[in-house]
Amino acid sequence: MMGKRILVTGGAGFIGSHLCDRLVRGGNDVLCVDNFLTGSQANVVHLLDSRHFEVMRHDVTTPLDVEVDQIYNLACPASPLHYQADPVRTTKTSVLGAINLLDLARQLGVPILQASTSEVYGDPEVHPQPESYLGHVNAIGLRACYDEGKRCAEALFFDYHRQHQVQIKVIRIFNTYGPNMHPEDGRAVSNFIVQALRGEDITVYGDGHQTRSFCYIDDLVKAMVTMMNTDGSVTGPINIGNPDEIHIAQLAKLVIEMTRSRSKLVHKALPVDDPRQRRPDIALAREVLGWEPSVHLRAGLARTIRYFDELLQVDGTVKARVLAGIGTGL
Ligand code: NAD
Ligand code: UDP
Repeated sequence: MMGKRILVTGGAGFIGSHLCDRLVRGGNDVLCVDNFLTGSQANVVHLLDSRHFEVMRHDVTTPLDVEVDQIYNLACPASPLHYQADPVRTTKTSVLGAINLLDLARQLGVPILQASTSEVYGDPEVHPQPESYLGHVNAIGLRACYDEGKRCAEALFFDYHRQHQVQIKVIRIFNTYGPNMHPEDGRAVSNFIVQALRGEDITVYGDGHQTRSFCYIDDLVKAMVTMMNTDGSVTGPINIGNPDEIHIAQLAKLVIEMTRSRSKLVHKALPVDDPRQRRPDIALAREVLGWEPSVHLRAGLARTIRYFDELLQVDGTVKARVLAGIGTGL
């Protein structure tokens, strides 16, 4: 993978910034394209001195004309709070973004990887979820802008592949966490850690019996790069996630224990269409990519807690940091 020119859309976001890091470290020239809706310059500031890294402010809903050897398409707000803030824009980002980047991949004759999501399975009735499961999505609900946008993007990827022979790589990412998460994106891991560090109540939605399976960012990034560099016959979709499943209330208690916080759990209303259970079947990732996650939840949480702890101490409050430039597009 060395010495390539690589485009990462959404490169200033949580996952994108780690991917840019890894690709630059691997000896590639990286072009990070982002409109900074939920991402931040702060996530990639350490790369700006490198002559192998460039940032371009651009919205993927408009066409892009650049010369690259590979494309990773990550541009899209990812947390329910952020993607529901402007749902029409979210769908446009997934659908028009996919069309524009697939056109670019077609024109250049280069492979393109799509960051799809476990949300394509909706509130799953099959557990754990294999790629063959067609899903259970509410097409008109509050999550539809994201779920259906991502499903439409997958359809476009496969149509461009069948109709125009574009080399596609589709991965379905399950809940991922780690440093560089937006401190106010409303996700369980970031909310719980920030609340625990501030000594605030930990907000568990519903009874907390719903489950998720959390993957540490380094494991995900390894899988993304491996997937991109498979031969042309590998299109996916392939699930990427950590099959260790946990109840959300259990996660909240673990964060309290690990931060030695005095915070208490409080229960709030369960969001509409919130999936009751989620766990990836990663047999295909093991077989095709030779990949499986290696970072245990405790180890990953420890690193993530350290990140948020520093963030809170440096700036006094998360709010100050947010106002200073994170997520200013929202
Ligand atoms: P994020 O919000 O941190 O990153 C998304 C990035 O895309 C941000 O930098 C944002 O500014 C940028 N962006 C949004 N709209 C854009 C547009 N129209 N044009 C250009 N840039 C735009 O989220 P993330 O967690 O890093 O997610 C990255 C990708 O991975 C997303 O596509 C998301 O759907 C997918 N994904 C993430 C998870 C997860 O658990 N984090 C799970 C499944 C899928
Ligand atoms: N959740 C919670 N409290 C929070 C944030 C999230 O109980 O402060 C729950 C949420 O309802 C969901 C789970 O945690 O059941 C994971 O939510 P997240 O937003 O992290 O991811 P997603 O719902 O997209 O899987």
